[in-house]
Amino acid sequence: MTSDIASVSLPDGERIPKLGQGTWEMGEQPARRASELAALRCGIELGMTLIDTAEMYGDGATESLVGDALEGLRDQVFLVSKVYPHNASRRGVIAACERSLKRLKTDRLDLYLLHWRGSVPLAETVEAFETLRSTGKIRHWGVSNFDTDDMEELVAAPGGEACATNQILYNVARRGPEFDLLPWLAARKMPAMAYSPVDHGRLPKRSPLDDIADARGVSVFQVALAWVLQKPGVFAIPKAGRVEHVRDNHRASQLQLDAHEFAAIDAYFKPPRSKRPLEML
Ligand code: NAP
Repeated sequence: MTSDIASVSLPDGERIPKLGQGTWEMGEQPARRASELAALRCGIELGMTLIDTAEMYGDGATESLVGDALEGLRDQVFLVSKVYPHNASRRGVIAACERSLKRLKTDRLDLYLLHWRGSVPLAETVEAFETLRSTGKIRHWGVSNFDTDDMEELVAAPGGEACATNQILYNVARRGPEFDLLPWLAARKMPAMAYSPVDHGRLPKRSPLDDIADARGVSVFQVALAWVLQKPGVFAIPKAGRVEHVRDNHRASQLQLDAHEFAAIDAYFKPPRSKRPLEML
């Protein structure tokens, strides 16, 4: 099926969809399982073929759910998982990856991320990622929750320049990365992967997003998501455990906000004028 979802380039030129699907808090409650499986599959059908998960989510239960959702669909998907910092040693990364592959019922990850920075030297983790790449267990690697100074250190470490992306908290209410981190990534042609693009469902009760949503006949979630998706060099992974939300998110990828709407959003959710430390959830 041809997709109407825009794409972004990884540093090596591979194109990936600008809108994917998150999975945090999925697979944890049996009563929600059918709805979550249907949501993930519906998203894939609509072209939201990038799926983000992590060994941390549900202590592996989320990866197992994703593995079930991908039955027969694996080759259509760009699959992302993350390793815990306490597993980020030379041997720990390899073992953690094997466990993730088993739960996900696949032989490879398209992208493997260090979930956040821990105490293992970056060069050691990079070496392990490169070993996994050379054996075909992963196709790309990257990091998450790295601020600009962490990225500087990473690219200075042996092999660190091969980093494909940095997954960060970025949405209309969390604009700190615009000051320095997003420009730093853009200069290296590294796209930013925006997590919690609708702020984990905690957008303010009343803001210009409501006026835009009312005028357009859409929801505030769709406006917030459209805002992230219109940022160059950024791709987003909203989590939606219900088919209706997945369909709404897909429609948001087709919504083009205009200059007046951007200005109204800027007036309320002010862009940063100085460095703000990277926030994380
Ligand atoms: P999010 O995607 O900003 O928000 C998810 C919440 O918004 C859910 O409650 C969902 O409800 C709701 N929602 C989604 N689309 C909606 C829509 N169209 N209308 C109304 N409600 C909607 O938050 P997130 O899950 O924190 O972030 C997304 C993904 O990023 C995660 O799932 C995870 O994969 C990743 N992440 C990574 C990190 C990291 O440290 N690297 C941290 C946080 C998140 P329903 O589920 O009921 O549909």
